[in-house]
Amino acid sequence: MQVLIVILLAIIAIAVAPWVIGVFALAAGTYVVALAIAAALAITLLLSVFIWSWASKLRSKAKEKQLIEKYRVDLERTAAELAISSQHARQRAEVRAKEAALEAERKEQERVRRLVLCPHCSSKIAKGSMFCPVCGKQPLSASPVRSVQRKE
Ligand SMILES: [Zn+2]
Repeated sequence: MQVLIVILLAIIAIAVAPWVIGVFALAAGTYVVALAIAAALAITLLLSVFIWSWASKLRSKAKEKQLIEKYRVDLERTAAELAISSQHARQRAEVRAKEAALEAERKEQERVRRLVLCPHCSSKIAKGSMFCPVCGKQPLSASPVRSVQRKE
């Protein structure tokens, strides 16, 4: 109904003043141009949004790949370091064991060096003993006969 009234009014306006048709044409042309510009803008916007999201997806995928690669390298390096450190720990333990064995050996040699033979029963007794713990005699009268060499 309103549209009909508007069209009627337009026809009356054109009948009264024919130059109004030029104004209408200009308005319509402007409207069409504005529509076209808006459509172009909208299409450009949509396209740029689409391209941007696609590019960012690609970028994030590449970044993800890079991150995974970095984690993999880190993991490998950590594993290698762990292996090296456990190897070092094993070597240190071996060295400690060898040192302990050497120390024990040294103490044993020291102990053996301090042993003398009892002049009565030939038992190995500590140097400087008052009595032989085996035969009960005093080895003091006799000076230490000789050092006992350790027999393996
Ligand atoms: Zn003795």
